[in-house]
Amino acid sequence: ASGGKDVLISSCRPSVNLLIQKHCPEALPYLAEVPSPMEAHAKLLKREHPGCSVVFFSPCIAKKQEADSSFGMVDACLTFLELQSMLREKGIEIPLMGEKKEEGSRTRLFPQEGGILDSMEKREKGYDYLSVSGVEDCLAVLEEIKKGNVHHAFLEMSSCHLSCLNGPAHVRGKKSPLLAEVALSRFAGKGDFPVPGLEEGRMEKEFAPLPQSKKEFGEKEIEAVLRKIGKNSAKDELNCSSCGYPSCHEKAKAVLEGKANLEMCLPFLMEKATSFGSDIVEYSPNGILVLNEDGTIQLSNPAMAAILGVPAPSALLGRSVQEFLDPELFFLSLSGENTRLKKMSLPNGKIVEATIHYDEKFHIILGSLRDVTDHELRKARHLKDAEETARVTSEVIDRNMEAVQKIAQLLGESAAETKLALTRLSQTIQDRKGGGSK
Ligand code: SF4
Repeated sequence: ASGGKDVLISSCRPSVNLLIQKHCPEALPYLAEVPSPMEAHAKLLKREHPGCSVVFFSPCIAKKQEADSSFGMVDACLTFLELQSMLREKGIEIPLMGEKKEEGSRTRLFPQEGGILDSMEKREKGYDYLSVSGVEDCLAVLEEIKKGNVHHAFLEMSSCHLSCLNGPAHVRGKKSPLLAEVALSRFAGKGDFPVPGLEEGRMEKEFAPLPQSKKEFGEKEIEAVLRKIGKNSAKDELNCSSCGYPSCHEKAKAVLEGKANLEMCLPFLMEKATSFGSDIVEYSPNGILVLNEDGTIQLSNPAMAAILGVPAPSALLGRSVQEFLDPELFFLSLSGENTRLKKMSLPNGKIVEATIHYDEKFHIILGSLRDVTDHELRKARHLKDAEETARVTSEVIDRNMEAVQKIAQLLGESAAETKLALTRLSQTIQDRKGGGSK
């Protein structure tokens, strides 16, 4: 496995190869002169299926550079994040595979730290087999190699802490890299996959030194970049490496060189999201409450303080929700009965429209209360006015009907009397006419 070398460094991780080629060419003689698993697999696929296109999916951004310089072996390389957004955009869902363990699947261990070592068939006597991860540790080991302090060693190096399982373009979901490692170990078998065509000769790859970027940037330029990602003083520079650079300074230089995305700084993005979120809470016209599962208030906003008649949101913190509100709807949400726009009357006379939701992931109950007191009072007033108007109108109609009936009655009576008088008058005239002619 050592290839007869005193020290051998695995060359399957392109970011480590580039690190050595650019920053530590003295260690190049120790880099294994073999292609990476991606390149070797692509070569076999092209040989077995002439004319096919090979697309590689990876949690590693450096694989893109390796694919670009693979002389057409790998036609395209997408990160897991890119694949995920492509699938989402097209509305494609891939069903989850069960944990199907195959005996010949030892190389599934590759993405975890030490996975290359764990998949090796033979280990040479007298050699140490070690894995190193994280750029800083890799650089420290390379420094020791340069000084001649490392001998008889096979080194598996990965520039990402915990290796590819913790790659920058991984779709992490809820699993931590350590849990992913446990799952992967269970998923991998003990033997090797059968690889057709492998017998057709050894694959080799040469690694040559690469020039480092010659550009030098002044402190002012670097500070200007750092300020844009919220690093206004040395204490803001967390140097956490989650951007893939060993320090905030290195990251700023990479931004100036056009190699890194300015905003890819996890602590900065989190702070931004938190402050954006807290602005929404602070200025929301709706009262917002966040409770833990016991009903203790964890967070609220000025609108909620106004609804509940307390001087400030801080007066609600740590208090039980039932001191201020009927807790029933909040606790019902724990069993999945979320509430949407339900009217509630508060002990202080206010009327609110409540939307309550339980967040299982964070174990919190979120309540949004809209003060609709004025609206409801106006509505009640309009209803009362309408009822009063209807009552008065009904009375007027009743009175008018009475008058009409009386008039009709009077008219009826007088018509009958008139008819009677006229009949009598006519009779009298007839009688007189009859008497005169005799
Ligand atoms: S992620 Fe941000 S804080 Fe961490 S090293 Fe990179 S620039 Fe600095």
